[in-house]
Amino acid sequence: MDKAKKKAAPKMDKYKAKKKAAPKIGFGERFGSLEELKKEFRTCQRCTLSEECAGRTTLARGDHAAEIMIVGESPGEEEFREGTPFVGPSGGFLCYAMVAAHHLIDPALADYAGDEEHPEVHQIIDDNFYITNAVMCYPGDRKPTTREYRACRNRLWNEIYLVDPKMIIALGKQAAESLLSRPVAITTEHGKMFKARIPGLVRPYIEYPVMTLVHPAFVLREGEESKWAVRFVQDLDLALTTYHKTMEILGGDHDGG
Ligand code: SF4
Repeated sequence: MDKAKKKAAPKMDKYKAKKKAAPKIGFGERFGSLEELKKEFRTCQRCTLSEECAGRTTLARGDHAAEIMIVGESPGEEEFREGTPFVGPSGGFLCYAMVAAHHLIDPALADYAGDEEHPEVHQIIDDNFYITNAVMCYPGDRKPTTREYRACRNRLWNEIYLVDPKMIIALGKQAAESLLSRPVAITTEHGKMFKARIPGLVRPYIEYPVMTLVHPAFVLREGEESKWAVRFVQDLDLALTTYHKTMEILGGDHDGG
């Protein structure tokens, strides 16, 4: 009897679902305002990319209170020269897609069909979006390394926290990976909604909806007549439609464009 009693009882614990490890995210450096962040990163040397671009970063552009934030990958040559993201060929294609989606942004954009790189188009975009990159430094003729993307991610988290957008549009695989902290197969995961976890102050993290699109540079490599050009415009339309629908449900006081 005693022997039977001594028989080890089955451990119920082993049937319990294993507790998922809490996401290890948290701010490193913190910035109180976008102005402070800008000042700090104007001549950043936090990673090896500072050597490539002699410490000259390409800072964000657009409205600090924008409800939609656009995150690209890294600045191109023209962006580096101008010190502003999306002003080169990729920016040209982004303008083209924005004009095509004028009904979801600002009807005035329709006047610039065929003249998408007009300064007024850039102005309307800046009035409606906040645009930044996953890394702020020009990498020359190479892609930034994972280590460099990671080095710049805390700055990106701070920017998201300070802008506090309703939606983020990630342009390209590396932008999506920086935001989602996982590998992304962008050619199959484009046009989909995900959640990015950004460190919070009170809560451990805040979730932001992220729509992933391919990068305009990829579209240009594939050709402006390619299926990717069409998909980019469709995905942007979907992202903006989702934003408007969400705001309607939440009763947000946006003017709807
Ligand atoms: S890429 Fe980012 S972290 Fe690296 S030097 Fe430039 S601003 Fe600093």
